[in-house]
Amino acid sequence: MNNDLVMITEAWAPHAGWPRIVFVNEAFVRLTGYSRQQALGQPCNLLHGEETDRDELNRLEQAMARGEPARSEQMNYAQDGRPFWTGIDMAPILSATDAKTPWVFVQSDLSRRPRTSAEIEHLAYHDALTGLANRTLLMDRLQQTLAACARHPVYCGLMFIDLDNFKDVNDPGGHAQGDQLLLEVAERLQTCVREADTIARFGGDEFVLLLQTLGSDPAEAAANAETVYHKIAALLAEPFQSQSLQYRANASVGINLFGQLPTTADELMRHADMAMYQAKSAGKNTYRFFDTGMQKMVDDQAWMGNELRHAVQREQLSLHYQAQFDVQYGMIGAEALLRWSFPGRGLVPAEIFIPLAEQIGVIRELGNWVLGVACQELARWATIPAMAHLVMAVNVSPQQFQLPGFVEAVLDVLARTNARPDRLKLELTESVLIQDLSGVRRSMATLKAHGVGFSLDDFGTGYSSLKYLKQLALDQLKIDKSFVADVMTDSHDSAIALTIVTLGHSLGLQVIAEGVETVAQRDFLVRIGCNIFQGYLYSEPLAAKEFEAFICLQPQGAKAQV
Ligand code: C2E
Ligand code: CA
Ligand code: CA
Repeated sequence: MNNDLVMITEAWAPHAGWPRIVFVNEAFVRLTGYSRQQALGQPCNLLHGEETDRDELNRLEQAMARGEPARSEQMNYAQDGRPFWTGIDMAPILSATDAKTPWVFVQSDLSRRPRTSAEIEHLAYHDALTGLANRTLLMDRLQQTLAACARHPVYCGLMFIDLDNFKDVNDPGGHAQGDQLLLEVAERLQTCVREADTIARFGGDEFVLLLQTLGSDPAEAAANAETVYHKIAALLAEPFQSQSLQYRANASVGINLFGQLPTTADELMRHADMAMYQAKSAGKNTYRFFDTGMQKMVDDQAWMGNELRHAVQREQLSLHYQAQFDVQYGMIGAEALLRWSFPGRGLVPAEIFIPLAEQIGVIRELGNWVLGVACQELARWATIPAMAHLVMAVNVSPQQFQLPGFVEAVLDVLARTNARPDRLKLELTESVLIQDLSGVRRSMATLKAHGVGFSLDDFGTGYSSLKYLKQLALDQLKIDKSFVADVMTDSHDSAIALTIVTLGHSLGLQVIAEGVETVAQRDFLVRIGCNIFQGYLYSEPLAAKEFEAFICLQPQGAKAQV
């Protein structure tokens, strides 16, 4: 878990007072006790107090006036007045030649440093909040358990625990209350298991137990796993001390038993996760074992995977196009979305089979097919006056982007189809940026030099995104549809949307919202400064012919019908 506090301010001109905060990361909220709502809009000296060194502050202010990065150590104060000592790195986001620039401040908590190597080792394998095992450690232990199972006839279990109503605490009470609750849950879980068992937290409100030696046959193991479940459910139902209101936790629990049959750690985890979802859809606050009905679904997947391998040759794939609207300029482009016309099942949405394609390693073939068809269509649009200005957005899966030869393949398709590179926009997700940042940066720069644009898809769902935002040749941020869905009802989501819009604009990027379904959502987004939209409110993804007909119905050059 990242423990560095990150804060970004609005664009600031020298001598204009302290700039206001437009972004804080999760660590900021966790360590200072200020919620996002409380911090956003405040001047960036929010954490300063009595013993903050004025001379140092003057030095920082002078560096800011010169547009220069600076480093310092400062006494800060959390919301409850607790002082803490941090090392600050601050830097302008735009170049020194820009008169106004947003600033980014990264602060590390010095009271925790220096760390010994034992502490660093602990951090690598444990969840920072609860001290429970993290995913890495759990997977490690699971591998060991699997190896042991192959040698001895015992049954073990994986238990996925997801708190049902955690949002009820985390939203109104703020993250600090949510964290307190998670700590108490962690403590209670520890009393439900034996020494040899492993308890892990996977971030958020998801806990995973690895239960050793539940029995020597499946029936005995199942009975023992049920006993553990009932213990957990009873303990969670006890009121929590830290909550002023009488909060009682429910959990949906998925249990997967395993023994000598060959399997992999990943598969076991996936099945336990599926069982947890079954418990959730059965009405929550209950448990489900992974069973063969679910197994059938998995088998179905294997079969579908096989079919998918032949989809290109069998000409079962097609692209649909979903319009993108600008409030001012009307329709400005479309996103190409892949569809699989599967015999007997109609059109299968990408959501179902893209992850499968990635899993079974056919994403390169599908991706190349998509690029080829999209560019061909783009070249065709160029010959139709009402469509010649449209930009085609194409999704690129992280795996596909990282394959050697990706850049060349794109340039090759553009040359072959005669499509204009500056009308092509590639949509990447944040996960692509985590692995090999410098490689990604190089590939993007090469394509960019040819005019190809880039959008960062599903923005806000990924990790600490700020590090790389500035370094990449991006043109657009795309607010994920999950935030748009609840933008009217969930203050957390509306704050995220606002942050993305502010951040994007301060970096000179376009910001588009996807999944816009209602006028109310659209109006809210316009109010916070987002002017480009995509979603059912405007149009569903349409087949090429229908899309063309749809465009020809739009008033030419007029504003979008918004
Ligand atoms: P995405 O890039 O986030 O695409 C948007 C998804 O939201 C599409 O689902 C679209 O049909 C759906 N959508 C559009 N408007 C609305 C709305 O108003 N409300 C809601 N709830 N949903 C809306 P689809 O087509 O099932 O695609 C799912 C995902 O599959 C895409 O998410 C994208 O990540 C991936 N995908 C689609 N086509 C391709 C492709 O050609 N290549 C790759 N690598 N991935 C693709
Ligand atoms: Ca997309
Ligand atoms: Ca998206």
